[in-house]
Amino acid sequence: MSLMNINGKCHCGAVTFTARVDPKKVMACHCEDCQILSGAPLRAGVPTTLENFSLHGEVKSYVKVSQSGNRRAQVFCGTCATPLFSRAETNATSVMVRLGCVSEREQLKPMLSIWARSSIGWLSDLDKTPKSEQQEVYFKAEDA
Ligand SMILES: [Zn+2]
Ligand SMILES: [Zn+2]
Repeated sequence: MSLMNINGKCHCGAVTFTARVDPKKVMACHCEDCQILSGAPLRAGVPTTLENFSLHGEVKSYVKVSQSGNRRAQVFCGTCATPLFSRAETNATSVMVRLGCVSEREQLKPMLSIWARSSIGWLSDLDKTPKSEQQEVYFKAEDA
């Protein structure tokens, strides 16, 4: 297993982290909780152990209780609300890093999709949509 060093940063810059991760463990989660909590059609993440994770800055968390009763803290920046990682509510030994805030996300391609049964149907059609390199003129800046 060869580990990769990654750097994470929230949108406002108040929180940063570094981690060592196994790129083969990147996954995309299509569960409804991830869709709602991320504000996106899916959420990608990579797990790591606490020894391989170093956090700087103040964070807040929201505890999500799954149908099975599993309690996970969803950790985010209290200023800009960027989702950063999740961990067990108590006695965490590992974290699941959210790929969106990782600088190296382009190199971290998901190797597995979980909760495919709730995957958004149009995801696979995105490739076929018209592409604009930046923002289309008919989308006002306030919409983004
Ligand atoms: Zn922030
Ligand atoms: Zn999920």
